[in-house]
Amino acid sequence: MTSRILMHVGPSIGNYDVLSAAVQPNIGFASPEFNSAMKDSLDGFRYVTGSDSSYTPFILPGSGTVAMESVISFIPRGSRILVVSNGVFGDRWEAIFSRYPLEIKVLKAEAGKAVPLEDIDREVSSGKYYAVAMTQVETSTGVRLDVASVAKAVRKHVELVIVDGVASIGGEAMKASQWGIDVCLTASQKAMGAQAGAGLLVASPTAMEKLRGESISGYFADLRNWSDIMNKFLAGGGGYFATPPIGTVFSIQKSVDLIRTETMEARVRRHEICSQAFRAGIEHLGLEVLASEKLRSNTVTGVIVGGINIADFLQRCIKRGVEFGAGVHPAVKDRYFRVGHMGWVQPAHIVAALNTIESALGEMGKKVEAGSALAASEIFSRHSGI
Ligand code: PMP
Repeated sequence: MTSRILMHVGPSIGNYDVLSAAVQPNIGFASPEFNSAMKDSLDGFRYVTGSDSSYTPFILPGSGTVAMESVISFIPRGSRILVVSNGVFGDRWEAIFSRYPLEIKVLKAEAGKAVPLEDIDREVSSGKYYAVAMTQVETSTGVRLDVASVAKAVRKHVELVIVDGVASIGGEAMKASQWGIDVCLTASQKAMGAQAGAGLLVASPTAMEKLRGESISGYFADLRNWSDIMNKFLAGGGGYFATPPIGTVFSIQKSVDLIRTETMEARVRRHEICSQAFRAGIEHLGLEVLASEKLRSNTVTGVIVGGINIADFLQRCIKRGVEFGAGVHPAVKDRYFRVGHMGWVQPAHIVAALNTIESALGEMGKKVEAGSALAASEIFSRHSGI
């Protein structure tokens, strides 16, 4: 079979060097090679998240959800938590927090929209919240929350500002130290573009201080079990609490090496231009982008298409060699699909994706304006060198 272009919302578009770095002959987790892969990955993750050396990075076996659940380690029993939810993954914070002895309030946005800053500000300035948890890019809709502004507004009212950056970190700007974010997290397979298998987070000194208190966390994801080990890796040594995702860590090491070479600034710019070009093509086709205009992310686009069977459409795209994601937001589930343009995305992927969408829709009898790839190419030609 010829290789497929994977433009799902993560994993998305692979990089051979990054994916193949996961295959190492006979390397154990106590080896010097693994210790340095962990050190490079932890240091690199601080770079990707704009965290200074006072932040403690963690790499845990699992996925983004493990990193989310590990946040419980920082929160005392009975705390009040404000969740800002712009969709299905914002709701996941609620699902996690509600398993623990905490009081939760959730502010929710409609599909394609974000909870307004004023609403968050009003709620949090009541002064009763211990933490605010939010999602930088809501993967169910492609909405990007301006986490810098939210953090600025809530910072003085709460102990901890927590950001799920699973669909954004590595493709959107994240400046944890500068923006006053205590905890931000992701998964290896998303915009970091590495093999699946790890959850990653960074924690500010304020957050780390909270680990001294009583824990309401479960056993595996209690960061009290992991923090000494992470510090040992950072110092060039090693340690064990539970088996790390060995291959994935080598893949992350390669990914952060390439990210440093490209620089985060250039990487975010590349994502921005590719996403703009993709949306230009989608609008040229006469289709609608789910996220409101000012809220569109660099990494995920939800595309609304009326009058067709989306599952059938996605299969036709796969036959043409490009895989996209189905819709998951309950309010619009059967009327849209999701496209991931993250990690190692290049202009050629965008052009191929648009051609595929255009021809699959044409085959299904949907009237669309031809030439979407050309609309995208016009944007690329204005930004050479990405
Ligand atoms: N948060 C967001 C924003 C996500 O996109 C995802 C994955 N789609 C998750 C959390 C959960 O991550 P994982 O599937 O790696 O556990």
